[in-house]
Amino acid sequence: MAFRGVGKKALQSPLTAIMAANNRKICLSGPSRLTVAQDLLRAAGCELVLGKSNDDFPDYRYERRELINLIGDADVLFPAGREFIGGDILDSCPKLQAVVKSSIGIETVDVDAATDVGVIVCNSPTPENYLGVAEATLGFMVALFKRLKLNEAYLRGAGWKQPQNRGALMVGKTIGIIGLGRIGRNVAKRLGPWEVNLLGYDPYVSQETMEPLAVRMVSLDELLRQADLVTIHVVLTRETRGMIRMRELKLMKPTAYVVNTSRGPVFNEPDLIQALNERIIAAAALDVFAEEPLPLNNPLREVDPARLIMTPHIIGTNPGSLDAGQKMAAESILSILEGNVPDTVVNPAAVERWKERFWS
Ligand code: NAD
Repeated sequence: MAFRGVGKKALQSPLTAIMAANNRKICLSGPSRLTVAQDLLRAAGCELVLGKSNDDFPDYRYERRELINLIGDADVLFPAGREFIGGDILDSCPKLQAVVKSSIGIETVDVDAATDVGVIVCNSPTPENYLGVAEATLGFMVALFKRLKLNEAYLRGAGWKQPQNRGALMVGKTIGIIGLGRIGRNVAKRLGPWEVNLLGYDPYVSQETMEPLAVRMVSLDELLRQADLVTIHVVLTRETRGMIRMRELKLMKPTAYVVNTSRGPVFNEPDLIQALNERIIAAAALDVFAEEPLPLNNPLREVDPARLIMTPHIIGTNPGSLDAGQKMAAESILSILEGNVPDTVVNPAAVERWKERFWS
């Protein structure tokens, strides 16, 4: 009888992985101080090509030719968030069979171009990551409804409680969730016992699927009109980039709040700033921005801080989440080097061409 984790496959796979990975080259174009992935890949026999550290040079942008030279004849690319991997890069690196990220978001990879040339793209959706963001989203919601920042600033400014600074009761409020994937659903699940009304908008998710979480699926406009708080959990695509502009913000109640922990460019940022400054909406909480790190001269920094909570794309991160992301990415890479398609593939349409090009 095989015990959990020591079955036949578990005993065989490390050796198989080592054999398959031997002498294979992995390019980490923006390695970090955290070496979980590097350690796993080296232990499996991979040769690593390391680019400029992402911790020390977070704003560094490779010239196209420099990046192509760095990738060279690598089998797999493990890029940092700061690198954009377009079709031109993929075309110039004919040995490259996969691009694997340790994050959930893969908008910095041209997935369509990768699919066209049979390059597999994988992300790393670990529970540590998506549950961390779901928990953080609830924290943002409570902070907005209870006017936490305003009252804290008031007290520190030698003030005391003022009737006009009271928060709102969340019971009975309507929460609109845009994007009902891993994070959106986990936000809904956590709000279940809070006695709020849940509205959802996601053109790729049915009402039937959301029934167990008591989310009523509606149109985007209806969600925006009815919600007391709108929280955004979409992936960044051509369709979702700029999906919330002034038109959408004006549909919202002037007392409504927005939370964005997904990706900054989902909002038209100048429109959001105007909506906050002109009190078209009441307040916002943002963990993500159109440009990151948030430039020092970005006008978001001038918005009344009592009405805008901002965190530096960290709110969902926790000590385990980065390790878990790197581990999942390394496992995807080793699986690809064995000729297997990992569950983390985001472009399954690339698989046929990938097999033809690299495994026939
Ligand atoms: P997911 O892929 O599980 O879910 C995304 C959902 O968006 C899907 O259900 C999809 O159908 C939906 N969607 C796509 N187009 C849409 C549209 N036009 N309108 C409405 N919905 C649409 O992704 P996830 O794991 O839940 O992650 C959600 C977002 O959170 C991603 O943008 C991800 O990059 C981001 N994220 C941020 C952090 C952070 O640190 N702040 C961490 C992890 C993930």
